[in-house]
Amino acid sequence: MTIFYREQNIALTTKHQKENVIAPHFRDLLGATLLVPQIDTDVLGTFSGEIERKGNALETAIQKARLGMQATNLSYGLASEGSFGPHPYIPLLSCDNELLVFIDDERGFHLHEMLISEETNYAHACVSTLEQAHQFLNSAKFPSHGVILRPNDWQDHRIIFKDAETITAFNKAFDICKLSSSDGQVWLETDMRAHRNPSRMSVIATLAEKLARRLATPCPSCALPGWGRTGVNRGLECEMCRTETEMVKADIFSCVMCDYSESKPRLDGLWYAPQEYCPYCNP
Ligand SMILES: [Zn+2]
Ligand SMILES: [Zn+2]
Repeated sequence: MTIFYREQNIALTTKHQKENVIAPHFRDLLGATLLVPQIDTDVLGTFSGEIERKGNALETAIQKARLGMQATNLSYGLASEGSFGPHPYIPLLSCDNELLVFIDDERGFHLHEMLISEETNYAHACVSTLEQAHQFLNSAKFPSHGVILRPNDWQDHRIIFKDAETITAFNKAFDICKLSSSDGQVWLETDMRAHRNPSRMSVIATLAEKLARRLATPCPSCALPGWGRTGVNRGLECEMCRTETEMVKADIFSCVMCDYSESKPRLDGLWYAPQEYCPYCNP
């Protein structure tokens, strides 16, 4: 264990119990303790669209972490931000795009890690019958995962249900939404708040470990924390003709504070690209 953050307190801004999966990694890898201030992060926007989000995920996460640091008067802060939608490379697949940022005001840097996971129940639907609604519940993994429902034609924005935990509670909410919607349809969506979405919680856990590991790794040049993989060099050469391919040739590691960086060959020991990836041999 490195000494960078040992016995230090870090503010984690969350109102959805993310400390349960983030704190263990920051304790085991860094010896740090997370403090969770009581802050209403909904002012920064909510998932179900009642308050529109401003700024990109990193900016929002930084704002959120800063709120927690101000409330606790700490120099270290953490916050995470998730976004959900089509996979960037496989558009038919839904994905959970998670970001976790750490701010260090003692040393003057912030560092974030990201993770894209296909392990998500992210979905929405507009339905008119209870049978269709129950199909949605099955694919949404209800009741282990939460769902949110509201009238599709949404006149009164107070009619929204986020806390149904049983089929009975869901059915009751469904009836109210259906009666309150002038088109008789109900809007359903998966609840992506971390405490109601164990799939998302487990992605955040993996990400927390990744970020804590990086904060535990000192830069080989200046010895400050945060050394890690920051990019790749492409151009692995074809095994037959030595033409450069799109395959990764090396990982780039760099420091958050100084200019030092290193390029390291692929970890899997692959020195040449298989012929089928070659634009010359296999155009
Ligand atoms: Zn450095
Ligand atoms: Zn070739």
